[in-house]
Amino acid sequence: MKTPPKKTNITSSKLFAETDTPDDFATRVLNWFDQHGRHDLPWQVINDPYKVWVSEIMLQQTQVKTVLNYFDRFMARFPTVESLAQVNWEEVAPFWAGLGYYARARNLHKAAQQVVAHGHFPTTLDGWMALSGIGRSTAGALMSLGLQQYGVIMDGNVKRVLTRHQAIEGDSQSSAIVAQLWDLAEQLTPSMRNASYTQAIMDLGATLCTTKKPLCIYCPLQADCQAYAQNRVLDFPQKKPKKVVPQKQAYVLIVQHADTGQWLWQQRPSEGLWGGLYCLPIVDQAELDQFQTQFERQFSQTLPIIKHSFTHFTWFLSPQIFVVTATQATQLEQQIVGSQWLDEHTAIAKGLPKAMLKLLEQYHAGSN
Ligand code: SF4
Repeated sequence: MKTPPKKTNITSSKLFAETDTPDDFATRVLNWFDQHGRHDLPWQVINDPYKVWVSEIMLQQTQVKTVLNYFDRFMARFPTVESLAQVNWEEVAPFWAGLGYYARARNLHKAAQQVVAHGHFPTTLDGWMALSGIGRSTAGALMSLGLQQYGVIMDGNVKRVLTRHQAIEGDSQSSAIVAQLWDLAEQLTPSMRNASYTQAIMDLGATLCTTKKPLCIYCPLQADCQAYAQNRVLDFPQKKPKKVVPQKQAYVLIVQHADTGQWLWQQRPSEGLWGGLYCLPIVDQAELDQFQTQFERQFSQTLPIIKHSFTHFTWFLSPQIFVVTATQATQLEQQIVGSQWLDEHTAIAKGLPKAMLKLLEQYHAGSN
């Protein structure tokens, strides 16, 4: 086990109970894991850093049960880093569509190309962190779970466990507290059974020390958990008060080809919202007004507004239906950058964001 440094900058409370040591902490977590942890996840494999990597990227901001729906399908299509690196983004997008946070997938794709260009997976923490989209915690997980070497992680689960166990006051996203948490995590993470501990501490956060209803009664850390002792478990981790998320209105154009029934889809630019995914054209009020002067709007069917929340704003998208002639269709395809006439099945296969799938559902519900 690692010997903890003599000093720590954690000031909230004593690190461990009188008789406790960092080793006891890890031992308790590991003993719990041996009996109650998850041992059968499809990415829990030895000697396959690629599988671990894909799972770690999918698991960012996303729960295990959601990832399970995507992981096997992704691995069946892209079983190796080479198979992912050699395709273009259009082939990757459908396998991520619906999972959200698409920048993750674009970075994964780019990083796969970087790995193939290097000829091998990184073997050091810094090497992993040099790849697109890999931060310190993911790199730590890859060292630990992917390469079976020493690695330390600090994902949301670990942060929750540690801030509660030590009742760490202050904004847990501030750089000062994040630095404290890394110090603490490094002290607590053992070198023996490092990969098991990495999985164990994540599992403990995901299944016992949960955000809303922690199951402290079953927790191996309860005896010296400061938040539990103070009856303030839900007070941690602390965050800055939330800013009010701005709301934006826009219009989504359902432009239908009068002869073929196809709709006009547009591939979004690779940077930005829903980057690289296919979408119906989204316009502001002025663009809609101009569109309406040129093309025939259908008022016979109206669809509900689609609400979609991003981290930094909420989008209210109002669908507007138009039908255009074959001549207008050709003209539009030339005018709208990245646009294509597609039937629904083909559009879905190319990868649509969730809001577009919801719109299609509402359209068909309204047509029945
Ligand atoms: Fe989390 Fe409760 Fe365990 Fe403390 S006792 S670490 S709050 S589950």
